[in-house]
Amino acid sequence: MKKGYLSSWAKNVAPSPTLAVDAKAKALKAAGEDVCGFGAGEPDFDTPSFIKEACAQALADGKTKYAPAAGIPDLRNALAQKYLEKGVLKELNPAQVVISPGGKYSCYLAILATCGQGDEVIIPAPYWVSYPEMVKLAGAIPRIVFAGDEQGFKVTPEQIEEVLSPSSRMIILNSPSNPTGCLYTRKEMEAIVELACRHDLLIMSDEIYEYLLYDQAEHFSPASFSPEAAERVITVSGFSKTFSMTGWRLGTLVANPKITKAVADLQSQTTSNATTFAQFGALAAMKNWDQSMEAVQGMLVHFDRRRLKLLEGLKATPGITCQRSEGAFYLFPNISSCGLSSEEFSARLLEEEKVAVVSGHAFGAEGYVRLSYATSDEIIEKGLARIQNFCGKLN
Ligand SMILES: *Cc1c(COP(=O)(O)O)cnc(C)c1O
Repeated sequence: MKKGYLSSWAKNVAPSPTLAVDAKAKALKAAGEDVCGFGAGEPDFDTPSFIKEACAQALADGKTKYAPAAGIPDLRNALAQKYLEKGVLKELNPAQVVISPGGKYSCYLAILATCGQGDEVIIPAPYWVSYPEMVKLAGAIPRIVFAGDEQGFKVTPEQIEEVLSPSSRMIILNSPSNPTGCLYTRKEMEAIVELACRHDLLIMSDEIYEYLLYDQAEHFSPASFSPEAAERVITVSGFSKTFSMTGWRLGTLVANPKITKAVADLQSQTTSNATTFAQFGALAAMKNWDQSMEAVQGMLVHFDRRRLKLLEGLKATPGITCQRSEGAFYLFPNISSCGLSSEEFSARLLEEEKVAVVSGHAFGAEGYVRLSYATSDEIIEKGLARIQNFCGKLN
């Protein structure tokens, strides 16, 4: 094979480092090691049973065939209703909603439908690992803007202005954020939307953690700010994180009808619809909203307690500082005073103490590591003791 086997796309794409850490921790565990895993990017609870039962019923009822590419009508309707209530949609139009096999694919299609060769996409760092790779797969160019813990991991409009060019096409926002857990205030978000309107830019707003909030924090959808914002913002979310449904693969996308038409067409030619009977489970989550929110509140009680336990423990560790987070289920401590790179820190912590964390490097943030507290109190306590031991050895 003189021409080799792989395309230029395949040669340049990096595998998801968060999935890789999780796989390594699981392999060590399978080999009998006592691993404390903080790598997981998914809730550790089961899907609420009424959602599972609705899916089982759909299977029993023979909902086992292809569905429309953009999703089953009832689910698109229920989502359109919810987004109308939030002000993201200005009218009840299910054509502005597309269901995809996972929020990750919704993000990819949002980018693919709007960004092409030579377009520049502004990505605030620390970023979710997949954004730059998706932008590159679309032939577009990632423009990274960094915001460290001293600015609460949030980029300012001034920083965005600095990287603008005639090729600027889109800004990606992710609030609450993976990996930092930070949340933009309404005012901060409005300033970025205003900039996008002024410079004719699109915004992809990844709101997958919209319901996982602490300290009475409030989440804002930029599409709800004004009719012009609603035109420019592609709102992505999904069922994975809110309802502990990662394995179901169900993502959502809301945008103006020109964009959703293109997204649905791209989907029809690449994966067809999201799994039909899975969508009936999601429909139960939407139709029984109060029950769904009760289930989410039940999970949040545990996440919140673990968040504070992990935060206090990290802050008490010599060489580590850590910002309080307001959403998602991650903390993103600064380990730069430990004298190791993020990669060395995470590799040695796994090797020497059997604690799995993800290097900040993966998120475009050298000097930090990501810990997920979607794990048990027992693991958090044991893991913290090991991290403190590890840092004690370094100092
Ligand atoms: C988990 C996650 C997603 C999407 O997850 P799916 O399981 O594909 O729905 C999207 N964005 C961020 C930032 C995430 O952490």
